[in-house]
Amino acid sequence: MKYKSPRGTRDIFGETALGLSLLEQKAKEIFIRHGFEEVRTPIFEDAALFTRSIGQTTDIVEKEMYVFEDRKGRKLALRPEGTVSLARAFIEHRMDISSPAGKFFYSGEMFRYERPQAGRYRQFRQIGAEIYANSSPAADAEIIILAQDVLSSFGIDKINIHINSLGCEKCRPLFREALVNYFSSVEDLCQDCVRRLERNPLRLLDCKVDSCKFTDFPKISNYRCSDCKDNFDTVRLLLKKANCNFTVNDKLVRGLDYYTRTVFEVRSDAVVSQDALAAGGRYDNLVKEIGGQNTPAVGFALGAERVFLAAQSAGFFENFKSPENFFVAIADQELFGEAFAFAVKATRDGINGNKDISVFGPINGKSLTNQLKFADKIQAAKTIVFAKTEFENGKVLVKNMKDKTQIEVELNNL
Ligand SMILES: [Zn+2]
Ligand SMILES: [Zn+2]
Repeated sequence: MKYKSPRGTRDIFGETALGLSLLEQKAKEIFIRHGFEEVRTPIFEDAALFTRSIGQTTDIVEKEMYVFEDRKGRKLALRPEGTVSLARAFIEHRMDISSPAGKFFYSGEMFRYERPQAGRYRQFRQIGAEIYANSSPAADAEIIILAQDVLSSFGIDKINIHINSLGCEKCRPLFREALVNYFSSVEDLCQDCVRRLERNPLRLLDCKVDSCKFTDFPKISNYRCSDCKDNFDTVRLLLKKANCNFTVNDKLVRGLDYYTRTVFEVRSDAVVSQDALAAGGRYDNLVKEIGGQNTPAVGFALGAERVFLAAQSAGFFENFKSPENFFVAIADQELFGEAFAFAVKATRDGINGNKDISVFGPINGKSLTNQLKFADKIQAAKTIVFAKTEFENGKVLVKNMKDKTQIEVELNNL
């Protein structure tokens, strides 16, 4: 029996692992500059929390959640996204009452049972930020600009920001009704669309199968109430003021029920994927919906795997050189202890004051030839050889692995 990582998951090594860490680090720096603080929530939650907030008829709840029972029969789910967990934490820690304003960010693994494809996994990483207790359209604009800033800091240009406003509980029902009427007259809807028509007609607009058939569909812009209209006007005005380019997209609805008013997606021509690099929007009713005080909020999340691919194709990681490798070798077995002590010191203090290095070796019980072969294998720039005659004079041999030259150096000078 050979074990493999479960379908849709992967082991992450080397450049990808480093790249994902770099993305996280960089995003964190930007979030902190914008005044956001980090929150870490559990990887699993009460399953009902997601069902209630994300919506019964969404793809996530209908077919993508990892739900399981623990030993006491509690129904739990691996988190499929980060926003709801953060809202739950916000309420649980009474922040909806005590300190209602807040800017938070998170980064971590999410889980969805989806068909695996390029840049999409069943265990994936999202980095997100949320602004709580701020109903101002300025918060919407700030979140969109923040998403743009994070992506462009990874060298990703050619991004397209699509925005829309889904209206509020006053005006959305009218739009919904118009949509149901319209879709009822469209022939040959796919099965998903037929199923969603009554319960979630907005979702039909972005159906991957049928979307192109919808041409003269009702536009939300004709149904927005005056508050929603003013709100969306201000969001757009502020984005323009900040030189943020965007496209208003009437078909943009997002796959989650909790959104109100502004929704947006950031896409890039640089990646071949149906999925957005980052997406988000306003969710003024979510906190109340799951038991908290009325707290408007807006946020976004980016898919780290897809952003990694986009950043990679933009050459972002080429600016980050991996540290130089040094190998510590012994020509005489009796010097193993000395060489070991030197390697420990070198990892702590660096070599010649250079701390941006990786130190390998020494290896016990191998011939010098074999040790040098290993040094080549790990692409060591230099090998420091501890040999008896030189060591007795306080010296070691430093071998340049590229041109194979070697010099004697005072051990104290390294
Ligand atoms: Zn409205
Ligand atoms: Zn469809």
